Amino acid sequence: MAPLSIYAACEETSRGRIHDEPDPGFRGQYQRDRDRIIHSSAFRRLEYKTQVFVNHEGDMFRTRLTHSLEVSQIGRTVARALHLNEDLTEAICLAHDLGHTPFGHAGQDALNDCMREYGGFEHNLQSLRVVDYLEQKYPQFSGLNLTYETREGILKHCSLTNARSLGELGQRFILRQQPGLEAQIANIADEIAYNNHDTDDGLRAELLTVEQLCSCSLFREQYELVTEKWPDLDEKRLIHELIRQMINHVVTDLVRNSTMKIDAEDLSAIDDVRALTHPLISLSDEVREKHQQLKSFLHKNLYRHERVRKMSDDAGDTVRTLFSKYMQESGRLPGPVRLRLKEKSAETDVQSKARIIADYIAGMTDRFAISESRRL
Ligand code: MG
Repeated sequence: MAPLSIYAACEETSRGRIHDEPDPGFRGQYQRDRDRIIHSSAFRRLEYKTQVFVNHEGDMFRTRLTHSLEVSQIGRTVARALHLNEDLTEAICLAHDLGHTPFGHAGQDALNDCMREYGGFEHNLQSLRVVDYLEQKYPQFSGLNLTYETREGILKHCSLTNARSLGELGQRFILRQQPGLEAQIANIADEIAYNNHDTDDGLRAELLTVEQLCSCSLFREQYELVTEKWPDLDEKRLIHELIRQMINHVVTDLVRNSTMKIDAEDLSAIDDVRALTHPLISLSDEVREKHQQLKSFLHKNLYRHERVRKMSDDAGDTVRTLFSKYMQESGRLPGPVRLRLKEKSAETDVQSKARIIADYIAGMTDRFAISESRRL
């Protein structure tokens, strides 16, 4: 493999871990981060969390876990093509959704609503909370004690208020600066992955049609190319080939355009990337517009589709029920959560109590949340 670029993240210039640890030996530091993420409970639970379709809707749709794997696969391709740190990119991609609530965005919106008076709920910040604190399994520290660069990548967005409480990690949101290139890749890989797999799932669920999608130029162009080459494909192969070509088209553009943007700067280290106020990993204007058009299409026709809306409404009700019941009757929380309430004296401090309950709900899988709301 070609050597890393001088502006790639690397162990020698890493800002390190909060708690000092012995070297990982035959693994690299970022490989160790990735391994800890894969061994976390939050990662395993992604299998039973909604991407767009609630987990029990059908076994063939994406879940948060398969979404994270697709993000990581796209991210690694781009990182390798640009001679950036593939291990770090993989770690960030696999961890980026660890803080997602059950039921996708509907769950996150409902929990944010419930938490309005207690500091709100942001899933990005929650992902950081999972790896910094909520995973409690190592003898020497809480959380996974990941490197700064992985944590920097996980915290994709953050409100200014929260940024101010995060020290070094929050600085870039205040100064409007950028994270390293690996983090920038993970960010776009996320969008490329969901735009494409949600199109695929939408077609499979028969909530979208090929004709309808042809109103999006990204889709239509690939449709024309594929049907010209193979006019007699059955629908299943046609859709697979279309999605495959769309991903390839967008990823190729991303690599080309980012290479140009990187070459136009005079970079000699990752901190030069961080000091910029604009990202270097980006699509060309033309493809970005087409990608955005598809994204808006999905918002209008899939995420707000009657059937998806019905799932979202039910999901919101489930989360609100859980939150208000636990707030009223904290005795019904399981032992370990009650213990946390006690340790934090949260039985009397309502702000801490709400946060601990939000942590508990955010960690639930779809089906556990549903059965728990029925029990209560
Ligand atoms: Mg995601």
